[in-house]
Amino acid sequence: MSDLQRKRISIEGIVQGVGFRPFVYQAARRWGVTGWVRNDSRGVTVEAEGPLHRLAGFLWTLREDIPPLASISRFEMADLPVTGAAGFVICESEGEAAKTAQISPDTYVCPDCLDELFDPVDRRYRYPFINCTNCGPRYSIVTAIPYDRRNTTMVDFPMCAACRAEYDDPASRRFHAQPNACPECGPQLTLRDGQGRPMALEDPVAAAIGLLRQGQIVAVKGLGGYHLAVDAANDAAVRELRRRKSRDEKPFALMSYSSADILRYADVDECELRLLGVVERPIVLLRQKAGHPLSPAVAPRNRYFGVMLPYSPLHYLLLKESFPALVMTSGNLSDEPIVYEDGEAAARLAGIADAFLVHDRRIETRADDSIARVMAGKALLLRRSRGYVPRGIFLPHPQSSVLALGAELKNTVCFTRDDRAFLSQHIGDLQNAEACASFERTIGHLQQILELQPQIVAHDLHPDYHSTRYADALEGVRKVAVQHHHAHLASCLAEHGVKGEAIGVIFDGIGYGADGRIWGGEFLVGDGKGYRRVGHFAYLPMPGGDAATREPFRMALSCLHHAYGGDLPPLPVVAAIPEPERRLLLQMIEKGVNSPLTSSCGRLFDAVAALCGLRDRISYEGQAALELEMAIEGEAEEGFYPYDIEHAEEGYIFQPAATIRAIVGDLQGRVPVSAVSARFHNTLAYLVAETCLLVRADTGLARVALSGGVFQNRYLTEKCVAILKRGGFEVITHSLVPPNDGGLALGQAVIAGWQAEEG
Ligand code: ZN
Ligand code: ZN
Ligand code: FE
Repeated sequence: MSDLQRKRISIEGIVQGVGFRPFVYQAARRWGVTGWVRNDSRGVTVEAEGPLHRLAGFLWTLREDIPPLASISRFEMADLPVTGAAGFVICESEGEAAKTAQISPDTYVCPDCLDELFDPVDRRYRYPFINCTNCGPRYSIVTAIPYDRRNTTMVDFPMCAACRAEYDDPASRRFHAQPNACPECGPQLTLRDGQGRPMALEDPVAAAIGLLRQGQIVAVKGLGGYHLAVDAANDAAVRELRRRKSRDEKPFALMSYSSADILRYADVDECELRLLGVVERPIVLLRQKAGHPLSPAVAPRNRYFGVMLPYSPLHYLLLKESFPALVMTSGNLSDEPIVYEDGEAAARLAGIADAFLVHDRRIETRADDSIARVMAGKALLLRRSRGYVPRGIFLPHPQSSVLALGAELKNTVCFTRDDRAFLSQHIGDLQNAEACASFERTIGHLQQILELQPQIVAHDLHPDYHSTRYADALEGVRKVAVQHHHAHLASCLAEHGVKGEAIGVIFDGIGYGADGRIWGGEFLVGDGKGYRRVGHFAYLPMPGGDAATREPFRMALSCLHHAYGGDLPPLPVVAAIPEPERRLLLQMIEKGVNSPLTSSCGRLFDAVAALCGLRDRISYEGQAALELEMAIEGEAEEGFYPYDIEHAEEGYIFQPAATIRAIVGDLQGRVPVSAVSARFHNTLAYLVAETCLLVRADTGLARVALSGGVFQNRYLTEKCVAILKRGGFEVITHSLVPPNDGGLALGQAVIAGWQAEEG
């Protein structure tokens, strides 16, 4: 047996809590190799011995045929002396050392568990908490590390003999599946009435379906929090939910049993179909089908539905052969974080929900649903939360450990360790007290499960952000203030592991500028180390400050004043403002009273949306810009407006007066809004390309990164990418990290890491 060999294999990545050791065990049996497998601090270590050809097959399986939830980031091998030991065993974890391995995100129900769920002879038939090593809750139930049942909220449920046997059997799909449970020993479902009183019922799921059929609103406790469910085809019920939630127009998310159901109300291409089915199960934005059967109140004035497939077994039970679609919107009052604790659910959702479908497995960490859309042929996350968190993001190089505190809106925080960044779940808008509490709780929780005490804390440059004040109050750490748009640029580069400099086209709503003004239409050159501002949109007054964000007609007036002076064209948006208010606003603009200056691209979108008569007031952030994008019909409109790029000392300045006059001309000439909107988008794309060409001529840089919330806009992003590529640029866009402020903390972390290095 001269070809006998022994190898030590070190595997890193998401390899714990995902059925990796049973998988290795089974592969060893299959290929007839001997040795052992063990979890350790970095991941999994295997020693395997056998004849060369068997060993080769075993190694191939280890790399190519891994469990669905696993992902390998490092695979290293070393030769060892042959020992001749027989058998293959799974060793216990190396105690404390196992702590630093990654905890995996919460995922869908795997196909094997789904088969069992609907198999009448299975002992878990219709059991809403079925799971295995390949699927189920993880991050949302972890209370401490190492990832072990006693450190999850499953500690409340001692396993019965049958579950224990599976848990201890290396050949079982439930070997060391920490949330393993069955109807005998695991969590139980209860239906409660609107007052929170339990209703004694044989089958709570069937009863809940009955209530939903009658048009009632049912709060459903899910993986990362409560949803409010209602029959999406029942218009009166959907409107009632909107009324009770005081949610005027923000779209509700939908959930359907299968893609066949979804195809009844939305158009889905192949790429979107794949995205719907991924284990993370995000909400995917899909085009509404003309004449669809759902209530128009699900997504008023929107061409898209946000749709997800079921991810918990309870969702499957609720939707099987019942409704083509349920509204499954986060259980909260508008702007508050999603409800996840049972006590607060009863209190905060009282008066909204007619009934509560709940269970007794505690949710340790709240996590909203993630939101994604397909853009330029790939997935783009608009909200990175449940299903993706706390998976690590690889950085271009190792750095000191940093805690980055994110932005004010759509807040997430980020920790780094070596060459890995851990972006938190969506926390929300830190203008809300509940969200601020969640912010601190999330920092504490991540600190604990990642075992980090960063000595460097990164925060936004804005002096009044909640996160900045939080940083101010910290003692004994080094604080790094990071400019908002520089962080967007660094976030985009970091997501793709890009080290060198790039031209950053950073378009968003609002960010505090290095000159104390409000930036948001920025051309930067830089990387993780630093940046220069090489161009921007001309500064325009925002009459009334924040009020201009909520009332786009104010920005329309500001743009018209910029283009025409006092002699305003007679557009409906102007006529709609009562004369005294109009005069006051114009005075504020002229004299600069309570009218901070902004270079924001988002505000320009608002202005154009208002000029087009689409929206003069908004009920949620980004609404006007979104509706302007939605107004475009098809891809056929190639026209664009004139635009001026001024070569000023401080860089290339986009002067929008000519563009605005051309838009007004079109509107007065009764050109349809869909064409005006497309031309406006096209103009921005050409403006981006031309500015980048100018910057390339100055710097030699041919790499462009597109970031900032405006690049959630599919039409604009795809246009920019296409035109820039024709111009010979390499274009980097976001994918698994959001372009909006939800991805900001990653950039802050990278920048602070660099600064620490420089001393
Ligand atoms: Zn499973
Ligand atoms: Zn059991
Ligand atoms: Fe931003």
